[in-house]
Amino acid sequence: MKIRNPRTGIYDYNLLVDSNDVIVAKSIEIRNAQKAWNENGVEKRVATVQKWLESLKKYQNEIAEQLSIDTARKSISAVEVAGVLGVLQAWCYRAPQLLSPADERPSMSANTVMVQQQWIPYDVVGVISPWNFPLLLALIDTVPALLAGCGVLLKPSEVTPRFMDGLEKSINEVPELSKVLKVVRGGAEAGKAVVQNADAICFTGSVPTGKKIGAVCAERFIPAFLELGGKDPAVVLADADLEVATDAVLRSCVGATGQACQSLERIYVDQTIYDDFVHLITDKAEEVTLTINPEEGQMGPLIFEAQAIKIQEQIDDAVSKGAEILTGGKVETIDGGLWCRPTVLIHVDHSMKVMTEETFGPIIPIMAFSTEDEALELANDSIYGLSSSVFSTNKEKAIEIASKMEVGAVSINDGSLTNKVFDAEKNSFKESGINGSRMGDAGFLRFFRRKAMLIQTAKPETMANFEEKQ
Ligand code: NAD
Repeated sequence: MKIRNPRTGIYDYNLLVDSNDVIVAKSIEIRNAQKAWNENGVEKRVATVQKWLESLKKYQNEIAEQLSIDTARKSISAVEVAGVLGVLQAWCYRAPQLLSPADERPSMSANTVMVQQQWIPYDVVGVISPWNFPLLLALIDTVPALLAGCGVLLKPSEVTPRFMDGLEKSINEVPELSKVLKVVRGGAEAGKAVVQNADAICFTGSVPTGKKIGAVCAERFIPAFLELGGKDPAVVLADADLEVATDAVLRSCVGATGQACQSLERIYVDQTIYDDFVHLITDKAEEVTLTINPEEGQMGPLIFEAQAIKIQEQIDDAVSKGAEILTGGKVETIDGGLWCRPTVLIHVDHSMKVMTEETFGPIIPIMAFSTEDEALELANDSIYGLSSSVFSTNKEKAIEIASKMEVGAVSINDGSLTNKVFDAEKNSFKESGINGSRMGDAGFLRFFRRKAMLIQTAKPETMANFEEKQ
């Protein structure tokens, strides 16, 4: 596959796609090695993952450089690699605590029976990830799955594939790991092959693809952990600190060029502060600088051409239905890259795609509300339920509103905190996803099936006894 460079628009990288046979062979190799990987115990797995951590550190600059070409983001790429090293460290610390053997205990319902619980990991977990944070989203499920004792067949996005070269080098330096963690290159066809050759799937990506994968997993009778898109709302109450709210909303909407699942994408502001909010955030949005020179600036180009087209379509749709652009407002080509300046839209409503469909770009559509009930109705009027924000100087009031939002996590007086807080369990609501939390302890525990050893300590009931009781 020819891969486009988001900064230049030039197709300058060849992705050598794995054939179905290669993917099947990789899954068999993992399956053959997984038993020993699991039986070695969690302490040995932690030791191996720690070796990998050292190896990743060795390739840290190379991977960051590849990621910065994949995403056209320099400092964010460096932070992404550092963040992933932190994820490895955190799970190496937490996994053994969660797996400490539970004592044998008497059953509460049958007091002559002792119970031992075993934890059986899935043999091969397929991880399929998107392009917006290529390394982080490739490894966020991979690391806990490995530490749980699973093998992992990992297929990152074909849109941002360069980092796989550095990642694979780091894996190959740790031979015991390379037997149970294999990278698959390719697009949808490779993804389909992963789904066919794994025993559980962790998928991060769009709702339409997630639904297709969920259907295939249901047919194959394997679990699918789906982390999908969002349309995160922010509700700004009348008593909010306007500086705090506008700073946080702007950063959440346009940080990483809005290409994050937990970016705020629709803003509802109390009508008594609406004008002030709009003026202030528009002024701040106009000050955001572009990274046309990669060494400076705050916001990069759009990574994926197809997404840039969608963003322009949403802006056009909104304008044709009466929206007004206060700043930004169009996707433009600069030196071959596709750029969209932070775009503030007013006079928006829910007849417009920009208020109902995922945008994945630096757009800030703002609507006024007159009552808290109306704000909640608007915020909950969505097929998505990933996360949201509430801004208020009254913490109790903010939590009261947040508790009524149909989402898995709410940032209070900030935006997108789920990209920083990995230890709070959260489910995705509605079409934003399904199955166990990826965050917190559940993010590890979901890779096990529980098995019970039920040990009779008394003489078993005889058939005669059994009959007497009828
Ligand atoms: P996508 O659904 O187009 O692709 C995601 C991955 O699925 C890619 O690796 C792709 O090759 C693969 N794929 C495509 N079709 C497949 C099929 N039929 N079977 C198996 N694999 C298949 O998503 P994308 O455009 O790469 O990513 C953007 C989306 O990801 C956005 O909707 C965003 O909100 C979402 N996302 C969600 C989270 C989260 O944690 N909830 C995080 C980041 C991104």
